[in-house]
Order: sequence, then structure tokens, then C-alpha cells
Amino acid sequence: MAGSRRPGRNFLFVPGPTNVPERVQRAMIVPMEDHRSPVFPDLTLPLFEETRKIFKSRDGQVFLFPSSGTGAWEAALTNTLSPGDRVLAPRFGQFSTLWIDLAQRVGLDVEIQDEAWGTGADPARIEEALRADREHRIKAVLVVHNETATGVTSDIGAVRRAIDAAGHPAMLYVDGVSSIGSIDFRADEWGVDCAITGSQKGLMLPAGLGIVCASQRALAASRTAECRRAYFDFADQTKANATGYFPYTPPLPLLYGLREALRCLEEEGLEQVFARHRRLADGARAAVRAWGLTLCAREPKWHSDTVSAVMVPEGINGAEVISLAYRRYNLALGAGLSQVAGKLFRIGHLGDLNELMLLGALSGCEMAMRDAGIRIEPGSGVAAAQEHFRETRES
Ligand code: PLP
Repeated sequence: MAGSRRPGRNFLFVPGPTNVPERVQRAMIVPMEDHRSPVFPDLTLPLFEETRKIFKSRDGQVFLFPSSGTGAWEAALTNTLSPGDRVLAPRFGQFSTLWIDLAQRVGLDVEIQDEAWGTGADPARIEEALRADREHRIKAVLVVHNETATGVTSDIGAVRRAIDAAGHPAMLYVDGVSSIGSIDFRADEWGVDCAITGSQKGLMLPAGLGIVCASQRALAASRTAECRRAYFDFADQTKANATGYFPYTPPLPLLYGLREALRCLEEEGLEQVFARHRRLADGARAAVRAWGLTLCAREPKWHSDTVSAVMVPEGINGAEVISLAYRRYNLALGAGLSQVAGKLFRIGHLGDLNELMLLGALSGCEMAMRDAGIRIEPGSGVAAAQEHFRETRES
């Protein structure tokens, strides 16, 4: 029908799913094959090894579940804990809220530490709660590394130090869904027992893989943990994965895509990937400052390098900015969720992204904000980001 086509590319700037590089898309166009063939392990066995590297884990075990990140949350908890076990969980955004809800629904007793949205996990409060738990009833601490709803990154190294300072044996579980592959993540150094991610963010793939990297300690816990589990059972996976197979039909194209996406990360270099995300995020933050607006993240120490949640002025509905951006300029921005619905819009700047792509999105944000009645100087944010990119270019 005439008029139904939107020419050019959709600007995908939600904080996941992210752009899938063309070579990764091509790698996923594969004929179906027998996942029990003798050559299938040639694909899968190196894939488990390569995936482990992005967690910076030496001897963790990687599980690749056909699910989204939520399934990986569930897998981590149900495989390693028993009904009634107490876990300590800071709550400061929609994703920490949802993980806590899931933990409660699988029968765990969650000690919630509420923090203001726009801040993150407080290591001092975590240490205090653990010191108070003399009987060691708390079995695990659950932290969302990068709270995608508010654009807040918590300091997981500091959480580890807090657990150690309290001399508490609790395990540490970290949601790295919107950080792993984009923001530095150090499973071994931080003593992370279950690190969790999904395929559709830093890994530049479609949604469909829920990934857990479990420490040897978490694997030992899984042998006695009593939460009910079936599809996500580590034991079934471990048995099949050991020889390169799965206990059920795996999502083949995603596995081929993952292999290619990991090659992309390796070719760029993981540290360079983190530096690129930092530089792009600094450009986005320079734009927000130039607009005279603020981030939901209350202090620079909380700034996320993968998502900027931009507060809209009083009297403006952030959802209107998002709707105008999409309808008029083919730009997809992230919505404000729950407590912050209507109060902000989110720019996702993660995955396969460069300066000019982000500048295009910032330009679209400016137009949509002005259309929604926000008084910003046209071009001000784009100019500030441009200058940042020029000043920090490598050659
Ligand atoms: N955790 C975080 C930090 C997220 O950003 C998301 C999704 O955006 C999830 C968990 C849930 O992941 P999924 O939507 O892949 O189930």
C-alpha cells in the first residue's frame, strides 16, 4: 500500500534489543542441521569456552539457555538455592524489582534493601546487613550491575569488598544483562558466583539466549539446592554440554550468531569495546548537559555507559517524546518504566554503535523534544557530543 513503507533505517536506540551487525545476521542464516550429529560439538564446545571469556572467568561454567535474560535469572536462583533460603537484594529500578519478584515467586525469602531510583547498590548497607546476620541465614546477595530502567551502574567490586569485610559466606549473584560485553565485568576478580546475561544487548544478537556463568562454588551448591526446576536444570545441561550437546533442541541460528558476535568482540578487543562505550556515553551525557536537562542517575558515580535516562521537564510527558520520535523520525527510544513512567526517556547506546549513529539519534531526540514542547537550543546537544568525539578521537 502506498505510504506504508518507511525508507531508510529505523534508528534503534532502545537499551536492548540492539543492532545486530550484518556479519552476525549473515552468520545466522544457516540451514537447519542435526543437533545430535557427530560434528555438532565442533560448534558448541569452543563456544562455551569463548563465551566464558566475556565474563572474565577462568573456571566458571557457561550455560546457554534458549530463553531471554529472565530465564537466566530463574536458572541461577533455582539451581543453587532452596525454598525459604534468605537472599539480600538491593532494589532501585524496574529490573531489580522484577528479579526480586521472581525470587519471591520461586520461594526465596528476600531481604530487600530499597535505594532511591537513580542510585544503586550501597556496599555499606550490604556490609551492615551481612554483619547483622550472625547466623549466616543469608545465602546470596543479588545485585543488578546495570539498572537499565534508570541508567545506573553499581560498583560490584565494592559489593564484593563489603561481603568480604563482613566475613560473610553469602554467594554473589550479578545481573549483567545490560552490562556484559559493554561495561567491564570481572566474574573472577569480584567473586561472582552466578553472572547472568541475555543475547540481545552487548552481545548484539536477537533475544533468545539466557546465559549464566556459574562459579565452582555455585555448581557445588546446585548439587544440594532444592528449588524445583526442570527445563533449566544445571545437571541436565552439564551432562549434555560436556560432550557438546544439549538436553533439548538448541536454537541453532543463535549459536552460530553468538560465535560470530564473540569474534566481533575479540577483533575489536574487549577493553576497546568498553572504552568505546564509555566514550559514546560521555558524548550522550555532554548532549544532555547542553540541553540543560539532567539524568535520572543522581551522581556521576552511578552513570551508565550503556543507557542514559534523560529526565524531561515538569509538565512534559516523556512518553510523548518517545512517541513523536518514533512516528516522525523513525527513532526508537526507551520508555520510563513503573515509578519513572512519563518522567524520562532512555537512549540506549550499546552494542554495535559508532559516533555518527549516536549523533543521528541525538539529533532525533532534539527534534522530538522540541516537538513535545521542551525548550532546548536546536543542535546544542549534537554540537556538544560532536566536540566530545572530536576531542577524544584516536587519530
Ligand atoms: N535485567 C536487566 C538489567 C534488563 O535490562 C533486562 C531487560 O531489559 C532483564 C534483566 C530482563 O531480560 P529479558 O527481557 O531478556 O528477559
